[in-house]
Amino acid sequence: MKKKNKKLDILMILTIIAGVLVLGAAGTLIGLEAGRLQTEVDMAKAERVAKKSAADSGVSAAVAESSLSDSNLTESIDPEAAAMALAATGDVIRGAAVAAIPNVSEYADAVQNGNLVTPIPRNSLENAGTGENPTEGNGFIVCIDAGHETNQITDLEPNGPGSENMKQGVTSGTQGEWSGVYEYQVNLDVTLKLRDALTSRGYTVVLCREINDVTMSNVQRAQIASDANADIFLRIHCNSSDSSSVDGVLCYAPTSSNPYLSEEVIERSQALSRIMRDSQCEETGQEALDNLYQDDMTGINWAKMPVTIVEMGFMSNYEEDMFLTSEDGQDQIVRGLANGVDEYFSQYGKMEAAE
Ligand SMILES: [Zn+2]
Repeated sequence: MKKKNKKLDILMILTIIAGVLVLGAAGTLIGLEAGRLQTEVDMAKAERVAKKSAADSGVSAAVAESSLSDSNLTESIDPEAAAMALAATGDVIRGAAVAAIPNVSEYADAVQNGNLVTPIPRNSLENAGTGENPTEGNGFIVCIDAGHETNQITDLEPNGPGSENMKQGVTSGTQGEWSGVYEYQVNLDVTLKLRDALTSRGYTVVLCREINDVTMSNVQRAQIASDANADIFLRIHCNSSDSSSVDGVLCYAPTSSNPYLSEEVIERSQALSRIMRDSQCEETGQEALDNLYQDDMTGINWAKMPVTIVEMGFMSNYEEDMFLTSEDGQDQIVRGLANGVDEYFSQYGKMEAAE
């Protein structure tokens, strides 16, 4: 009995030791696997960050380059040739040279101080001094605001002219839940591509910003559109939802009783919002969601011309996050939006100057 018990004890101890060894080995294996997975996640993240900073430096290099060549052009431009170019393209466009200035607050300051930048449309600049005829512009001016920026402005500003309702100057925007890319980057990528597409279709394009590192509130952005005498003001954004299954395109427009905008600007803004959403969806196959009518958007309330906020898709949805951050996706969106601009002007044309 006793002996048997001892045998049992030894057997039990051996079993326990074996068990511990097996568990230990399994634990090590699980640990290794988890480590491998973690490493993969880290590597994917590192790759993303590397790609992003490469893209960022590419963008700033391109901006630096373009502002360099623009300033060369501005300096070397023959005033007579410029005058002729202007005459050929029609109206003198106040503020159109803003696109050549990387730091737009500098531009805003210049405007405020009455030191207007030489008002020469981009199209004319590019052809000035080449001996070629200036590109015939179509006479329409489009101001595009790439939403958000790397900074955010916590200072408050009036939600509309004369309003006592104060809102944050500019918010930080969303970030791709899957891509990790910031919304302000996607907005800028699409804005730069849209500028090129519209310029090649004959539009004069003014951008609120060409780089991410700016400090520019929503009132200032609307001011740039006004100073440029823009016919329409497109505000480019990406959406986000708590639910990752939500996807699709929508625009923000003022309600019919917006207290800051004229009846005509409201009606045209609502039409512009429908057209832009539908044109993007027609080109990309994304779902068209119901547009939102709100009067609490600072950049809309301060606008003097037809305005819309295009929410190009949801960065909280896997497919749309991948789409919005891909070259091909952005190219499709830009074709859709450029078609929308064509469609808007073919239906509505220029707004008669108010007052
Ligand atoms: Zn946004």
